[in-house]
Amino acid sequence: MSLSKSPISVFLALFAGVVALGYGIHAYKGFSERQKDIEETNRLVEEFNECQEAADWLCSERSVRVLLKKAPQDQNLHLHLAGILFEQERYEDCLNYIASLGYRNTDLEFLEKKSKSLMREMEELGLAKSMHFRVEFEGSPNRSDVLEALSVLEVAYDSLCHLFDFHPENKMHLVLYQSNEYQGVGPRPEWVGAIFDGKLRIPLGMMQYRELYRPVIFHELTHAFVRAMTRAKVPLWLNEGIAQLVDGSRNGKERPAGPAPSLDALIAPFVGESRTSEAVKLYWYSLEMVKELFHVRAGLAAPSQFLKFKSCIQDFYHQGVDPSLRTHYGTDSKELWEKVVGTRTRN
Ligand SMILES: [Zn+2]
Repeated sequence: MSLSKSPISVFLALFAGVVALGYGIHAYKGFSERQKDIEETNRLVEEFNECQEAADWLCSERSVRVLLKKAPQDQNLHLHLAGILFEQERYEDCLNYIASLGYRNTDLEFLEKKSKSLMREMEELGLAKSMHFRVEFEGSPNRSDVLEALSVLEVAYDSLCHLFDFHPENKMHLVLYQSNEYQGVGPRPEWVGAIFDGKLRIPLGMMQYRELYRPVIFHELTHAFVRAMTRAKVPLWLNEGIAQLVDGSRNGKERPAGPAPSLDALIAPFVGESRTSEAVKLYWYSLEMVKELFHVRAGLAAPSQFLKFKSCIQDFYHQGVDPSLRTHYGTDSKELWEKVVGTRTRN
C-alpha cells in the first residue's frame, strides 16, 4: 500500500482560525462574556494541540467536540474530528462522519480512501482489530508474519504495562513494513530498521530472526510507553537508557574508547550523529546514566525503580527535568553524567 501521506500533516493547520472564530461567533455578547468565551476557546485549542502532539486521540476528540459545539460549521474542525476517528482505528465511524457532513474536499477524500483501504487489507489478511495497536501495512505482508509480529507485540505490551504499572489509553500506531533489504538468508542484520518516531515501525522480515526481534520490540515499545506516559520532553539519554535497560541486549558492554560525549550531546536527539563510533558512545553512556539512576550495578533493576521512573517523567511536565530528578532520585543529569564519566565518585 502506498498511501504514505500522513493525515496528521493534514491536521496541524487549524488553530489561529478557531481563535479568530471565537470573536466572530460571540460578537453580540457583552465584552466580559465575550472575553471569557475567547479565553475558553483558546484554552481548548491549546489543549487540543497538546493532545494531538502527544497522539492522545481520546483527549483530542474531547476538545474538538467541545470546539465543534461553539463552531459547528468549521471545516477545519470537521477534518480534525474525521482524522481523530481515523487515528483511533474507528474507520467505520470516520466514514459515517464524513458522509454526514454533506460536502467533500481532498483531505476528507484522503481519509475516506485510506480508511477503506485499511479495512480492506485487514479483511484480506483475515485479521481482527488488535487489542492495543492500530496496524498499518507497507507492502503486501504475509499473514503469518503479521500474526507473529502482533502476538510478540501484545506479549511485550503486557509486560510493559506490568513493569510501569501503566495502561496506555490510546492504541499505539504500528506500521508493519516489508523490507526487501533484510529478507532472506545472509549475515545477521543490525536492526536499525525498527524505529519509534511517534509510530512503531517494525520490519516484518525481522520475524525470521527470533533471537533478535524480542529485544528490538521491547526497545521500541519502551519508547512508545515513555511517550504515552508523559507529555513532557524526555532527554535522549533517559529515553535511550531506559529502552536499553528494558531490552536487556546491551548489558555488560565495555566502555567505548575515546573521550566521553558531552552532556549536551546526550540530551539532544541522537539522529544527528552520523559517526557510528560516536553513536555507540551515546547509547553506552545513556544506559550507564540510567543504571546509575536506578542503582543498578550488575544484574537487574528493582521493580520499584520503574514505578519511580514513571512518576519522575510525568513530573517533568510541570517541574522540568532536573528538578523532578532531584525530587524523585535526589540527583540530576549533570551529577549522573559526572559519575558515569568518572569525574565524580559514586556513592
Ligand atoms: Zn531507542
